[in-house]
Amino acid sequence: MPLQAGLLEILACPACHSALEERDSELICTGQDCGLAYPVRDGIPVLLVDEARRPE
Ligand SMILES: [Zn+2]
Repeated sequence: MPLQAGLLEILACPACHSALEERDSELICTGQDCGLAYPVRDGIPVLLVDEARRPE
């Protein structure tokens, strides 16, 4: 399910407040030294640091 149009523009990484980028049904933080990947479940972004995947 695609994200609602315009939603990405208002979302920010809760850890560093950088912009997010949708990739493979995850929202990837674009912040340098952050890069957390947040899951999207049923079209709803889960912007919780505890739920985020750490970059390798
Ligand atoms: Zn971040």
